[in-house]
Amino acid sequence: MSYTGVKHLTKADRLPRLFRYYSTKRSGKNVPPGGQYRSPWKIIKDEFTNLDGPLPTDLIPREVDALVIGGGLVGSSVAFWLKHLHPKAFSVALVERDLTYSRASSMLSAGGVRHQFSVPENVQLSLFATEFLRNIKQYLSVLDEEDPPDVKFNHHGYLFLAPQDKAEELVAHVKMQNELGARIKFLTKDKLAQQFPWLNLQDVEVGSYGLQGEGWFDPWLLIKSFFQKNISYGVSYIHGELDRFNFKSQAVSSGTGYIDKNYLDSAVINGEDGNEYGIKFSHVINCAGPWAGEVARKATIGTGNDVDLAFPLPVTPRKRFVYVVNCPNGPGLETPVLIDPAGVYFRREGLGGNYICGGTPSEDREPSTEDLSIDYSFFEEAVKPQLEYRIPTLKNLKLKSAWSCYHDYNEFDENLVIGRHPFHNNFLFANGLGGHAVQHSIGVGRAIAELIMAEDFKSIDLSKFGFDRFLRNDFINEEMIT
Ligand SMILES: Cc1cc2nc3c(=O)[nH]c(=O)nc-3n(C[C@H](O)[C@H](O)[C@H](O)COP(=O)(O)OP(=O)(O)OC[C@H]3O[C@@H](n4cnc5c(N)ncnc54)[C@H](O)[C@@H]3O)c2cc1C
Repeated sequence: MSYTGVKHLTKADRLPRLFRYYSTKRSGKNVPPGGQYRSPWKIIKDEFTNLDGPLPTDLIPREVDALVIGGGLVGSSVAFWLKHLHPKAFSVALVERDLTYSRASSMLSAGGVRHQFSVPENVQLSLFATEFLRNIKQYLSVLDEEDPPDVKFNHHGYLFLAPQDKAEELVAHVKMQNELGARIKFLTKDKLAQQFPWLNLQDVEVGSYGLQGEGWFDPWLLIKSFFQKNISYGVSYIHGELDRFNFKSQAVSSGTGYIDKNYLDSAVINGEDGNEYGIKFSHVINCAGPWAGEVARKATIGTGNDVDLAFPLPVTPRKRFVYVVNCPNGPGLETPVLIDPAGVYFRREGLGGNYICGGTPSEDREPSTEDLSIDYSFFEEAVKPQLEYRIPTLKNLKLKSAWSCYHDYNEFDENLVIGRHPFHNNFLFANGLGGHAVQHSIGVGRAIAELIMAEDFKSIDLSKFGFDRFLRNDFINEEMIT
């Protein structure tokens, strides 16, 4: 589906059409073909051809309860949950500057879901992602849409390999994951050799393998399904870019009397038509992915005079490459999503002997984020040799293509930042998930909605991922980051 080039109907265009529909219906001229029943939703869809597009600029709301900045998977999920939990209670608008999502991480990611993390909350978020995707028709079906949502989930376990000195840690992680409801099998070297005879296990002692609920899906299909559901829930999609925030001055008491402080009040959006639109909000949610640090700066986070505003949101873009290789002698259908201890991953892509792979560069090889150009030497020097070492049958692999994509990287501890800012209480973060927001966006969206509606996390307690941990210098150590 293309969101560009959609002809926008103005309000004036719409009303006469609706009027025409009902008046012709009364006169009997617009009886549905074959006398078939059409629900009100279907009738509206048939009548308004641009219902799948962004809002015409004359309908951009001037005031909303929640303004979501960024329409990748995190923003789409936040908007969905705010409406899903209380469809009528909340007005929600989502601002996205690029409705083709050409640079959004959500579109360009590998779409993987895994339950294997070392921090329990990350496991819980992943388990919820699986539960949601399993029941996606229940959550995201739109009345009278011909095709129910389908994100093409491929079931395949992740296989983490570890050397001798990490074996004990892996045992503890697998125990915790299984206690939380995952189904992960711990494998000794013998068992690994039996199940995956094509692996070179020279420097490997143990492994952990997902038996259920892990795999990958098409993230674009999930964005699209959220989009359709959100439109049907009445979320206002605005095609534009957040330019700046406006502040409201308020007197607050201090030790020596009253001082004026500036609180966030409204956003100024540069619309696709070149005009500026002011939107007042009760809450604004930063879902700008790799650009979340910039959005926070616009709210004076990291640049303000107040002590609570001194610390910036430490989320920046980091570029990663995904390489597509072909190898007729590869392990084929039974390939797990392989996570090598040297920081390289590998998984099957389709059925024609194709695989995708990539790796994490060392700090001194971090690529420039100026554009999305691809470093092929990283493949030749770091990824290919390690894959050929681990899977000797890959000796003849051929590089077919590649793409690159930005991580929303949390420089502080590479983990999620969620919740309210300590000073700008109506500014919420849903950022810094790095390599796993495609799967965690689903639970993060629900958590944001709970926080706004119930003032607390209800389903998964994510309070330790708050912004205040930066001020306390409290690191979260996720050992299974890939
Ligand atoms: C190579 C690679 C592979 C990955 N594989 C996986 C995986 O297998 N599994 C997994 O779970 N995760 C994976 N990830 C991570 C995942 O892609 C990201 O964490 C996730 O997509 C981030 O989603 P998001 O919605 O926060 O950001 P995005 O999808 O980038 O969306 C942010 C949106 O905000 C918009 N925006 C920004 N600023 C503004 C503004 N001022 N005004 C209006 N709009 C704005 C942007 O246009 C963009 O569309 C991978 C990442 C990379 C780089």
